Amino acid sequence: HTEMEKAKITHHQSHCLALAYPTQGHINPMLQFSKRLEQKGVKVTLVTTKSICKTIHFGCLTSIPITFETISDGYDEGGLEDVESIQAYLESFRLVGSQTLMELLKKISRSGFPVDCIVYDAFLPWALDVGKKFGLKGAVFFTQSCAVGTILYHIHKGLLKVPLLESEILLPGLPSLEPSDMPSYVYDLESYPAVFKLLVDQFSNINEADWILCNTYYELEKEVVDWMMKIWPLRTIGPSIPSTYLDKRLEDDKEYGFSIFNPNVDACIKWLNERSKGSVVYVSFGSLAVLDVEQMEELAWGLKKSNCHFLWVVRKSQEAKLPKGFLDETSEKGLVVSWCPQMEVLAHKAIGCFITHCGWNSTLEALSLGVAMVAMPQWTDQSTNAKYIMDVWKLGIKAPTNEKGIVKREAIEYCIREIMEGERGKEKIFNADRWRILAKKAVDEGGSSDMNIEEFVTKLNLIKA
Ligand code: UDP
Repeated sequence: HTEMEKAKITHHQSHCLALAYPTQGHINPMLQFSKRLEQKGVKVTLVTTKSICKTIHFGCLTSIPITFETISDGYDEGGLEDVESIQAYLESFRLVGSQTLMELLKKISRSGFPVDCIVYDAFLPWALDVGKKFGLKGAVFFTQSCAVGTILYHIHKGLLKVPLLESEILLPGLPSLEPSDMPSYVYDLESYPAVFKLLVDQFSNINEADWILCNTYYELEKEVVDWMMKIWPLRTIGPSIPSTYLDKRLEDDKEYGFSIFNPNVDACIKWLNERSKGSVVYVSFGSLAVLDVEQMEELAWGLKKSNCHFLWVVRKSQEAKLPKGFLDETSEKGLVVSWCPQMEVLAHKAIGCFITHCGWNSTLEALSLGVAMVAMPQWTDQSTNAKYIMDVWKLGIKAPTNEKGIVKREAIEYCIREIMEGERGKEKIFNADRWRILAKKAVDEGGSSDMNIEEFVTKLNLIKA
C-alpha cells in the first residue's frame, strides 16, 4: 500500500466482503448496496465469480471506490456454457467457491486490512460457514421480495406442504394466494429440483447470520416485513438503486453508472429521445427467462397490433424466434436490441409502460421509477411478484393466458391499450408514481432503508472498536 492508500484505509472503519451470486439480477443490487455502504464509510470488497467477470465492463467502475475480487465456481474457462446441469453447477460452486473464498480471505488478511463481515447472497449460505470459520460476522442479503421469502421459509420449515393441496394459501402478512400466484417450483417441483432446493436452502443456516438484509423497502411490504421481524432481525435496505435515478437526475449519474454489463447505452437512449412523453412500450424478460416460439410470435404481433412505439430486448440466443418479416414490418415503430441499459430506459420520459417478466429487480426498478407494468411472469418468484403488481400495489395488470399458458396477441394489445389509453391505466400510472415517491423517501437520508443501513454500519463499527 502507498502512504495515501494507508491513510485512506485508517479512515475507513469496517471492511465488508460482499459476495454476489453470478447473474445480473444479483450483482446489480449487491453493487448498489455496496456503494451505499461505502458512502457511509465502510470499505467494501465486492466478490463474484471469474466466469461472470468476463461480461462485466470494469471501465464503468473506475470511479467507484470499491475493490473487486473473484472466486471460482469451477467453470473459469468455458463459463456457464460448460455446465452440464444446474445441480452440478451449484455443487461445484459450493465446493470450489468455499475453497477459493477461504484463500481470498487469507489473501485480504495478509494485505493488512482484514474483512470484518461477509455480506453474502442468500443463494450462497455456505459463505456464512466459511465466514464463521474465520470468526467473521455474517449478513445474508436477499434479492427477492419478503413475500417470496416468507413463502419459501414456510416450505423450509415444513409449515407449507408441497406439492400444494389447498386451493387458497393463507400465510401471515400475505394476501390470500392461489396456487398460480406461488413461486413456480411450488407447483412444478419436477422441472427444476435443484433450483427448488437452492431457494429453500436459503434458510438452512439463517439463524447463525448476524444480520438479515432484504432488497425491498418497508413501506412496500409493511405487513410481511412486520411479521418477519418478529422471528428474525430482518432489515429492509432497498431499493438498491442509485439515488440519482430515483431523483430522475440522470445527468448526475455519469460517474456512478449502473450498466456495468454493457457500456454502449447510447443507441437506445438516442432512439427514445426522439419519442414523445409516455409513448413507448418497453419490453424485456430479463437476463435469463426463455419464451417459447409461439409466445414470441404472439408478443411480436401483439406489439405490432397495438400500433405503439416499442423497445424490445431480445437476447442474441432468442433472436431466431422472432417471426419472419417482423423486423422489416415494424422498423418504423420498433427498436429491437439484444441488451439495454434498463435503468436509463425506465427513467426515460418516453416510456409509457413496461411489459415485464416480473423479475424482482425489474419489478423494483419499474416501481421505483414510477412505470406501470404489464405482467407476464415466466417462472420462479415472478408469479408472486405479478400478483403484487396487479392486486396489492395496483400499478399494473397481469396479461391473461390461454389454456396452454400463452398470452395471445389480442391480450397483449388489450393490456397495452389498458395502460396507455384507458382510465384504469391512468390510475395505474398514478399508483406507480406513488410507489416511486415512497421508494425515494425510503433511501433518502432518514428514510426507513437509510436508517437500517446506518444501523448496520454503526453496529459493525462498534464491533470493530
Ligand atoms: N438488465 C439490464 N438490461 C437488460 C437486461 C437486464 O439492465 O437488457 C438488468 C435489469 O435492470 C435488472 C437485472 O438486469 O437489474 C435483471 O434482474 P431481474 O431480477 O429483473 O431478472 P433476471 O434477469 O434475474 O430474471
